[in-house]
Amino acid sequence: MSGIRGKVVAITGASSGIGEATAIHLAERGARLVLGARREDRLGAVVDAITANGGAATGVVVDVTRREDLVRLTGTAVDRYGRLDVLVSNAGTMAVSPFDDLRQDDWDAMVATHITGLLNGIAAALPVFRRQRSGHFVTVGSTAAYVVKSPQAVYAATKTAVKVLTEGLRQESGPDLRVTLVSPGFTHTEGIGKGAGPEIAAAMTRQRDEIAMPPGAVASAIGYAIEQPDGVDVSEIVVRPTVQA
Ligand code: NDP
Repeated sequence: MSGIRGKVVAITGASSGIGEATAIHLAERGARLVLGARREDRLGAVVDAITANGGAATGVVVDVTRREDLVRLTGTAVDRYGRLDVLVSNAGTMAVSPFDDLRQDDWDAMVATHITGLLNGIAAALPVFRRQRSGHFVTVGSTAAYVVKSPQAVYAATKTAVKVLTEGLRQESGPDLRVTLVSPGFTHTEGIGKGAGPEIAAAMTRQRDEIAMPPGAVASAIGYAIEQPDGVDVSEIVVRPTVQA
């Protein structure tokens, strides 16, 4: 199936930012959506906005660090729509800090969300895609995987893992599946600085307000990869504000 219309797309981290913008972008183009995140109220608001606009969306409360939650997300797509065409693994946390702060819980959360969370999504969707003999993994990485900037080393390391896992998955995917890594630069979302210490959060939100691109720019890149004909795999897209070095 080419294009976006009619495709069944599951998105993690769809309650705000890039995930929300992607859901809206794809819904406007006729995709049927299954949206996952932990904050039920925010997820519900995204689902309501899409359905009020004539789109098709269902929300599933999901913590990507839990295997069974990803199985529930992909299972909801299959139960409700009979198939799953695309899994967008977008959930993430940018709680960056210098090593000296020893914010080990934040380190653990980034490892669990970006690495374990991605693997949980692969494990839940791959058998569905193999059964269908079609499917598309889209993963959201970061320009932080290309250039390490202090104090983002742990975040950058986990996003480097996303890049590596995505490329390995692509190599093993065979002719029936498509695999796309989308690596955004600075994007204007509430996630910038969230969970970071006050000084870093202030610096990041200041930089965000000066240079960040809208989340719709990333949503368009994801949409571009999805809308290609079946035999065409857009393997990697880096999208950043022109003013980002
Ligand atoms: P947001 O904070 O707006 O979005 C993050 C999303 O992830 C939220 O929907 C959040 O929902 C969800 N999430 C976080 N942890 C979990 C979890 N354990 N289980 C399920 N959902 C989770 O920030 P962005 O939109 O900016 O971030 C989206 C992705 O884009 C992330 O992977 C981020 O690393 C990446 N990115 C962002 C950039 C930027 O400049 N903004 C640049 C490069 C990459 P909830 O809290 O409801 O669970």
